[in-house]
Parts: sequence; C-alpha cells; structure tokens
Amino acid sequence: MSITIHDISVPVGPGMLHYGRQPEKTMVESIANGDDGNVSRWLIGSHTGTHLDAPGHFVEGGTAIEAVPVELLVGPARVLDLTFVEGSEATAEDLLRAGLADEPRVLLKTRNSFEALRETVKSPWVGIDAGAAALLVERGVQLVAIDYLTIDSPAGESGWPVHNILCPAGIAILEVVDLSAIDAGEYLLATLPVKLVGSEAAPARTVLISGDGAWPAVPAMREAAESLAQSAQIPGENSPKAPSRGVAAG
Ligand SMILES: [Zn+2]
Repeated sequence: MSITIHDISVPVGPGMLHYGRQPEKTMVESIANGDDGNVSRWLIGSHTGTHLDAPGHFVEGGTAIEAVPVELLVGPARVLDLTFVEGSEATAEDLLRAGLADEPRVLLKTRNSFEALRETVKSPWVGIDAGAAALLVERGVQLVAIDYLTIDSPAGESGWPVHNILCPAGIAILEVVDLSAIDAGEYLLATLPVKLVGSEAAPARTVLISGDGAWPAVPAMREAAESLAQSAQIPGENSPKAPSRGVAAG
C-alpha cells in the first residue's frame, strides 16, 4: 500500500498574494545578534495564505474557527475540475458538469491555480455565483475550497452573495489552495487551521492524500463524522434559512 501527500498550501511571507494586509516579520531574538536562538514575531491577517473561513466570518455570533470540528477538517473530499470555466463565475450547471455529487468536502479547481493564484497582485479571477452556492447547500456540502483569495467572484465583492449563502448554512470555506498539480478525483483532505480563539478564520496547512493506502482510514472517518452529526451541529445555524444538519457522513 502506498500514499502520496500533496501539499496544496501556499507559502506565507512578505510580498505574497494578499488582499493588501501583507505579512510582516520581525526578529525579536537572533543568533546573528548574539542571542541564543532565533525567535520571530509575525503580524498577519487571519485570512493570510491558505486559510479556513468559519461561519462566524459572515454570521455575527456564528461559530469561530477553534470550534469547527476536526472531524469536518479531515476526511474524504472530491476535487472538481472547473478549468473549462472561461468567465469569472462558475455556475450550478458548471459544478454538475464537473461531477458534483454528494461529498461533504469539495475542492474547486479553476484556472486560478495556473493564473491569478500565481500573481503577487490581485488580478481577474474565477469565483462561483449565488446559484452555485445554493446548490452546494442543497447537496449537503460542508466544506468547500477554491484556489483564490475569495470564493465570491469579482462581481461578488460588492455584497459577498456567496459568503452570505455559505456561512449562514454552516459551510466552512477553504481559500487560497493551490490545485495546479492536482487532478480531479477523490482524495483524503486534511486542513488544520490554527485555533485562534474567537477568530472568524485562520491560516491552515492543508494536504490532499491519495494512493491505495489512503482508503482504509475512510470508514473510521465516516464513523467519526456520523457520531459528530448526531451530537452536534456545525456552526452558523443562527440563520433560520440554514438547513439543520451536522457533519455529514464522509
Ligand atoms: Zn477568507
């Protein structure tokens, strides 16, 4: 049995692609200055690099990042190839064409992985439209990933319609994943955001695991997710529109 671990996180540092709040690093101790060791201090936004948005991002009082269940963050996932989308918005029809089924975790690979994500300044990108977001809710998706700074399209920057559908439905949004080397298909996902207490988001080292050795763990992961679903609801359920459900079976 073998596995391959694909790191789909992006490097974090000054000069990276960012909404404008660039990371700043200072050395508080350094060997070069005669200190015993090197110790750095970082000033970064919670939406820096590969990061997870918790429902509290767009729901006042919604679940914060440290309360997103780890059983949601680790488990089977499907990568959908949306590189055929030419405009700036993938639609519900596009998601279906790419093979959206009923997986609880879905990663959307667009041409961003080859274009906009590789720039260091913001440039035109592909997001999803409100209809696609509604379909994700309807299909029971609980975590959705996109290969750019935001899952909203450029037009969505006024009003954030997609975040305003996904967050109240309790769906976690993983942003800034690099899917350029990842083919469509099934993987195990592990995305582990730092437990910043009360934060609406946090940076998350994120990997996809493939290979025949990856699958024996799946039934146990499904069980963990199912028992969680019975005992707790994921986040964001403050909204009366939100479907009442927990972590779906992996
Ligand atoms: Zn974000």
